[in-house]
Amino acid sequence: MSDTTFDVIIIGSGPGGYVTAIRAAQLGFRTAIVEKSHLGGICLNWGCIPTKALLRSAEIYHHMQHPEAYGLKADNVSFDPAAVVKRSRGVSKRLADGVGFLMKKNKVSVIWGAATLDAPGKITVAAAKTEAPKGALGPGSYQAKHIILATGARPRVLPGLEPDGKLVWTYFEAMVPEKMPKSLLVVGSGAIGIEFASFYRTMGAEVTVVEVLPQILPVEDAEIAAFARKQFEKQGFRILTGAKVTRLDKQADSVTATIDDGKGGTQTLTVDRVISAVGVVGNVENLGLEKLGVKIERGVVVTDGLGRTNVPGLYAIGDLAGPPMLAHKAEHEGVICTEAIKGLHPHPLDKAKIPGCTYCTPQIASVGLTEAKAKEQGRDIRVGRFPFAGNGKAIALGEDQGLVKVIFDKKTGQLLGAHMVGAEVTELIQGYVVAMNLETTEEELMHTVFPHPTLSEMMKEAVLDAYGRVLNA
Ligand SMILES: Cc1cc2nc3c(=O)[nH]c(=O)nc-3n(C[C@H](O)[C@H](O)[C@H](O)COP(=O)(O)OP(=O)(O)OC[C@H]3O[C@@H](n4cnc5c(N)ncnc54)[C@H](O)[C@@H]3O)c2cc1C
Repeated sequence: MSDTTFDVIIIGSGPGGYVTAIRAAQLGFRTAIVEKSHLGGICLNWGCIPTKALLRSAEIYHHMQHPEAYGLKADNVSFDPAAVVKRSRGVSKRLADGVGFLMKKNKVSVIWGAATLDAPGKITVAAAKTEAPKGALGPGSYQAKHIILATGARPRVLPGLEPDGKLVWTYFEAMVPEKMPKSLLVVGSGAIGIEFASFYRTMGAEVTVVEVLPQILPVEDAEIAAFARKQFEKQGFRILTGAKVTRLDKQADSVTATIDDGKGGTQTLTVDRVISAVGVVGNVENLGLEKLGVKIERGVVVTDGLGRTNVPGLYAIGDLAGPPMLAHKAEHEGVICTEAIKGLHPHPLDKAKIPGCTYCTPQIASVGLTEAKAKEQGRDIRVGRFPFAGNGKAIALGEDQGLVKVIFDKKTGQLLGAHMVGAEVTELIQGYVVAMNLETTEEELMHTVFPHPTLSEMMKEAVLDAYGRVLNA
């Protein structure tokens, strides 16, 4: 085979693309990955990873401001915005460089440039605007029997709320502020909006969040979202739900937003900066999809549970293939797509068991059905709850505000959903995800021994509560 012919070519090197490339190489496919901008995609460069680095700085800053809670003293606590951003960029770079290393280690060829589809199995790669990593192949024509699209997504733009990179930010600008705004309006209260709201509020900004739906964190269980809202309001967030930002008027260094309160009134709010966090849309354009007749619906490529599009030999995974637009979904989708190409018969993607996490303070994590969704499905359910205030480890950590909630099918004992708000719940949720994947019932969870003292004990207590056997509350 020549340098331009492969078994599998993956377009896009985000978590979906690069993990798919590794799995394809492991399965013995001659593999190439095309990237036009940055190895690691949005996740490593502008998404999951740099936000977590910023939020970690905020968390430590918060604790340093309240050392007395732990019997400690710290005077003149302050921060350097440039250093906070520098650390976050450094974390991103380290991981993005790691993707380059992984490609080399797995003998995946990196092709640097923007790919378009010419015909099934054929792509053209045009020169990229960014510098190619050492050893990458350049622009030209390439062929592969299987082409996997993993081009990701970009910020959704609402008319009247167009980001300008200066006063009205998307996550790109919000990730690298030159100075901290004193006041901030966040439009949209999904995970991205709330994480930035949490970061900037902790760093001292006056933060207002406007959400058009009746609850913040709209995909989460209503009780958990309401709990989180109370905590955010205690921290000084101003939150408007059922409200809509209808207009932004820009001044030299501020923006005045007109907000329809959803009750027939309007109000104006002047802030230093606005973050538009109203969702993301798939990067379906300029790929040649129309020419090949690839089915696209609501801005994303339509696929089956194994990543196959309606065009033989063409696959789509990750954000491009639709919600939930999460890195771990992208990775898993890519792995099963590749294994299906190899003929290994993997289980198709089960979206019902994909966890979702928001890394604000307090954190939020969930998997499966919310209470409302379970009822909508006509399920007869049992609900169990356990508060952080009843857990020894939570109290020792100084993190006694939180809630664990579980939902079971009353007839079968099947765990239908788990929802948590509080410290470290993004690490805990995986216990329930494993349980759900093993089709565990309440009986097995109640017979499992959890270590003491840990936050995880609350996961068992919530199960016990659903069956009238709670111990510590
Ligand atoms: C602020 C923020 C925070 C987030 N936090 C989390 C989180 O905590 N947890 C989580 O699970 N998810 C999080 N996400 C979502 C997560 O980043 C995405 O779900 C994930 O990156 C999707 O991976 P992907 O591989 O589908 O695409 P992407 O990561 O978007 O990568 C796509 C890549 O394709 C490249 N590309 C596009 N078109 C072409 C072309 N024609 N030719 C060559 N290359 C091309 C792009 O340059 C890009 O590098 C966050 C997102 C944002 C914005």
